[in-house]
Amino acid sequence: MAKILIVEDNALNIKLFCDLLEAHGHKPEAVTDSRNALDAARQFEPDLVITDIQLPHVSGLDLIRLIRKDERLGEVPIMAVTAYSAQGDEERIRAAGAQAYVAKPISVVRFAETVDELLKDGHDRSVESPPDDPEIDKAESRANKSEDSPGPGEAGGEED
Ligand code: MN
Repeated sequence: MAKILIVEDNALNIKLFCDLLEAHGHKPEAVTDSRNALDAARQFEPDLVITDIQLPHVSGLDLIRLIRKDERLGEVPIMAVTAYSAQGDEERIRAAGAQAYVAKPISVVRFAETVDELLKDGHDRSVESPPDDPEIDKAESRANKSEDSPGPGEAGGEED
């Protein structure tokens, strides 16, 4: 069981994400106002943060940067969820400090797999203490991996 903080302004998505995470045995907590997200994360001490990018007040990108700069939260894995999938968005999200990116409308399978992957990576990282620049290696391997996903012509066909 992992503690997972969800930052999302859309009630239906909160319900969906919470239901999915609970079904996988996790303990989700949701914040709708991103201005409260950093404080909530400090109190909740999540194993994973899932954040929307299109948020009023504090954007998801700014929130990711704030978490990365935080003394105690700096290492927590972050998964971004966003309806935008314009060219360059994924790079911006990863550059801000998120390890993973899932496009809305989410594939339930992809969502769950990404959560598992990040929780596992977070655990490995604390056990192994990897060499220099693990973020760069990780970002590159994930970027390569994501190129294997279906192209525009067959988008998501296998995932649903
Ligand atoms: Mn939103």
